[in-house]
Amino acid sequence: MHLSGYVSGNGARRQRIGVMGGTFDPIHHGHLVAASEVQHAFSLDEVIFIPTGVQPFKTKKRSTSREHRYLMAVIATASNPRFTVSRLEIDRQGITYTADTLEILAKTHPNADLFFITGSDALASILDWKDADSLFSLAHFVGVTRPGHVLDATGLPEEHVSLVEVPAMAISSTDCRARIAEGKPAWYLVPDGVVQYIGKHGLYLGVDVE
Ligand code: NAP
Repeated sequence: MHLSGYVSGNGARRQRIGVMGGTFDPIHHGHLVAASEVQHAFSLDEVIFIPTGVQPFKTKKRSTSREHRYLMAVIATASNPRFTVSRLEIDRQGITYTADTLEILAKTHPNADLFFITGSDALASILDWKDADSLFSLAHFVGVTRPGHVLDATGLPEEHVSLVEVPAMAISSTDCRARIAEGKPAWYLVPDGVVQYIGKHGLYLGVDVE
């Protein structure tokens, strides 16, 4: 992993690609601000949003169908030329491990350094993830924290993990879902197109979960 290496063996500039992993149920402005902040702070060329398939620690938890979560991410990121959304995990069968996702991306982007971005709460358990030892050779990990949140970073290798506080992460998907279920507005918490998509498909009213 070449954190400061901008030049590959053949002299070409190495790409710097953010990999934004999350359930995105639904994607909200906190995620978008976080991706934008990390893109700027780490001079990333691109940020690929990867909605999860089946998160290893949530195999029994129900979430909105992956196609809806994917399409909401597409709508939310459409206006940013540096943001893209990948079907890499939603099209994969079985449990979708981050190690496998990063292995695939490393193969398809051999001239890129990868920066895996996710919530710091999720990162706190990274030492228990599949192939934890190899994860740090595949990517640098960026944990996005909510204001006032303190991550217990005991045991996490400092050179491979960075934390970025993002005030907009005061918005949470859990809160958005609860508001919609209670009939409260989600305007300005999630992008306008996502509010309309949620309304059109009646999401978060107890149907369309898998
Ligand atoms: P989660 O447990 O649902 O989320 C934990 C916290 O992080 C929540 O506060 C969440 O806020 C926030 N968060 C999640 N994704 C974020 C993002 N991209 N940017 C900023 N904040 C984010 O986490 P998860 O979504 O299931 O998993 C996060 C990522 O870690 C996924 O890519 C997942 O596949 C990976 N993961 C991998 C393994 C493994 O390979 N063994 C195990 C666990 C997680 P919101 O609810 O508001 O998003």
